[in-house]
Amino acid sequence: MDNNEIWRATLGELELTLSKANFTTWFKNTYVSSFDATRVVIAVPNTFTKAWLEKKYHEAIVKALRNVTSANIREVAYRVEVKNTTTLQQFADQIETSHPVNEEGYTPTVNETCQSQQAANDLGLNPRYRFETFVVGKTNELAHAAAMAVAAKPGEVYNPLFIYGGSGLGKTHMLQAVGHHIHANQPNLKILYVTCERFTNEFIQAVRGGRGKEFKDLYRNVDILLMDDIQFITGKESTQEEFFHTFNTLHQNNKQIVITSDRSPKDIQGLESRMLSRFEWGMITDVSSPDFETRVAILEAKAREKSSQLSSEVLRYIAGTVQMNVRELEGALNKIIAYHQFKNTNPTLESVQSLLQSFVPNIPKRNITPRRLIEIVTGYYDLSMEEILGKSREQRLAYPRQIAMYLLREEGKCSFPAIGGHVGGRDHTTAIHACTKISDLLKTDEQLKRDISLIREKLYASVGS
Ligand code: ADP
Ligand code: MG
Repeated sequence: MDNNEIWRATLGELELTLSKANFTTWFKNTYVSSFDATRVVIAVPNTFTKAWLEKKYHEAIVKALRNVTSANIREVAYRVEVKNTTTLQQFADQIETSHPVNEEGYTPTVNETCQSQQAANDLGLNPRYRFETFVVGKTNELAHAAAMAVAAKPGEVYNPLFIYGGSGLGKTHMLQAVGHHIHANQPNLKILYVTCERFTNEFIQAVRGGRGKEFKDLYRNVDILLMDDIQFITGKESTQEEFFHTFNTLHQNNKQIVITSDRSPKDIQGLESRMLSRFEWGMITDVSSPDFETRVAILEAKAREKSSQLSSEVLRYIAGTVQMNVRELEGALNKIIAYHQFKNTNPTLESVQSLLQSFVPNIPKRNITPRRLIEIVTGYYDLSMEEILGKSREQRLAYPRQIAMYLLREEGKCSFPAIGGHVGGRDHTTAIHACTKISDLLKTDEQLKRDISLIREKLYASVGS
């Protein structure tokens, strides 16, 4: 066996005893540099790996080497060597970092913070991400309530608070709102907002630059740690280890920790079970896509924030079209506002419709047929098509029929005579009457609002599928 073969066989053995993440992290780009009867030198790509192999895997490596070679190996040493063209930097980047884009806010680096105590006064928070600008609806109210409670009494209620949910649903917003709120009420507390990505990169750099202690001191001495997108920790064993200790130190001292993630803790691959159980000490809560009414409320708030006048018809159209996440919703609104400012015109339903079709990808095509719409209303009220299209004026039929007509107008953009035609060949004045009546009722009737919102959801959920 040559050195390469020996090492390949040794790695084969080691692989069986380690997690995949650990294995790739620590054994990638290692090889046997020299081998004589009793002494093996293992080449490693950086000092960080060297330290870890020496500290954590030395015995396993010795054992595996002995098994594979049946030689009486007395000594195994590790040496930093860089093979081929891979630079140290590249390697470290491969294993532990990805592209450091930080769009959420600014966090001082360890160096800056240590030098200037910036963490205390410059929070690096987006000034827009406050509770005041956060719209609460059914799908985020629990997370919001928990965040408010934590902001009011940091370290006392839920620790940690773990908020998870899909992209663009307001997790970062809430996380930073906690920071703003605490800062406003208790300006002396040291608040640190950091993305997990940044935490990871800083940690690697700190270790590499021999500033591990500063790093620890920084993170373990805050009063409030706001950690965004913890799922980024997947497969990063050393970062996870560091975070674990940071977490424990803070938690023991009743320092508040708030964490966000795009998935639940148990769905974060490679998350150690001890970390998982720590998260379960506190409160784990999720956010999901806002319902129609909440989307309208969010649009209203954002339009007001931008001092933009949009009719409720337009807002409802946007809310009905862009459904999955708030970031997209906001993006659509911004485009509409920018376009009309540029053209110096007022948004109309028509202009917004065409804008959303060409600007926003992945929105459902509005290919709702009148028949489909009537079927959905019929199904919602548990009626048959014959009943709703028939002549009877019984209230239990007339009311859903009027709702169908209203929606044909609002969603289907049908003319009044066409509406009459679709709904059992009725007169256009009947259609006008129905639409006026339902619009009026909608101003006060909460039940009707909910019904229509649910029907709309069904309508849009059925489109595109
Ligand atoms: P996440 O971190 O979950 O991916 P963000 O917090 O970055 O999402 O939110 C995306 C955008 O949507 C931000 O501009 C945020 O202000 C806005 N947003 C999300 N949810 C709400 C809400 N409930 N009320 C107001 N704005 C919201
Ligand atoms: Mg976020």
